[in-house]
Amino acid sequence: MQKKRDVWQRFSGYLVLVAGILLLVIVAQLNDVWSLGGVDAEDTAVSLPLSTTLAITTTTSLTETAVLNTAVSAPLPVFYDTNLAPAPNPRTYQAKPPVHNFQIHVVSELDTPNSIAQQYGITADTIIGGNPGISRESNLLQTGAELVILPVDGVLHTVKPGETLDAIAQLYGVAVADIIGFPSNNLEYPFLRLLPDSHLVIPGASLGQFTFKAPKSVGGSGGAQVWAVVGTGTYIWPVSGRCLTQYYSGFHAGIDVSMAEGSPVYAADTGTVTYAAYAAGVYYDYGNLIVINHGNGFETFYAHLSSINVYPGQILYQGDFIGSTGNTGRSSGPHLHFEIRNNDYGTNPLNRLNGPVRTCS
Ligand SMILES: [Zn+2]
Repeated sequence: MQKKRDVWQRFSGYLVLVAGILLLVIVAQLNDVWSLGGVDAEDTAVSLPLSTTLAITTTTSLTETAVLNTAVSAPLPVFYDTNLAPAPNPRTYQAKPPVHNFQIHVVSELDTPNSIAQQYGITADTIIGGNPGISRESNLLQTGAELVILPVDGVLHTVKPGETLDAIAQLYGVAVADIIGFPSNNLEYPFLRLLPDSHLVIPGASLGQFTFKAPKSVGGSGGAQVWAVVGTGTYIWPVSGRCLTQYYSGFHAGIDVSMAEGSPVYAADTGTVTYAAYAAGVYYDYGNLIVINHGNGFETFYAHLSSINVYPGQILYQGDFIGSTGNTGRSSGPHLHFEIRNNDYGTNPLNRLNGPVRTCS
């Protein structure tokens, strides 16, 4: 026991010395850190590599210097890229990007703007609103195209640099509050800054309607009209009824034949189906519509149908069943609206249909 105490006494002097040196080293390290503390991060990034490079240059060979120079003087990206740097002023409002979660609709062969709109409970205009780049011609809706389906009727707006909320609201004639109020726009206070190229839902806005023109050809190439079949040039009654609620006139392009809902409709002549869907845009009035092109300059239109039993491109022969009468579109009671067009001009169907008719009482 006595011997052990002696050893302690002999070494305690060394321990104090070692502890003192350690303390000095720690203080020196802390000084280094403090000397950088007051300097802006950006300044540090610039000055530090330069001084280091100089120091290395004096002590290394030329080739080594070259390598080290590139390595050390390469910018620290986080400080040079202002997009990645944190906001320098904590009082600056940090813009929050919109986070939308839209449904995507893949266009199938028989889709029309109105059928898609009905499926999602939006207007056909909103299909344009969510997809401003698509053609307004409803027949040019491309099979396989992916459409953004907005959750409300409106427009998906891409923010341009420098654009303000006021300017956007004015552009679409809506209230600023409606744009701010749409949750996934992420525009609640204090996130009112707009990010260029971000997308805002503008509820209640519209970019206009689809147009509709029955296509002239579903076959052929290079724009040539090639028809597999050509009509006989004679027309049979498309329905069994002969009671008319409306005749052909300058204000009415065809005849309205009163028919109970669900009555069969037949092709008035041989031809090719060029349209078979709920009619879009300004032709909305037609409701479910079939158009047959007879390949001889004549087309027949069958409107307000309750069911469509043919598809575009289908070849039909005179008397083929094509669908059922109904009351779709702008119609006040079940009837068939029937037109015979000659090179786009309406003609009086009664001039080409046989047999007597009567006015419905
Ligand atoms: Zn009519």
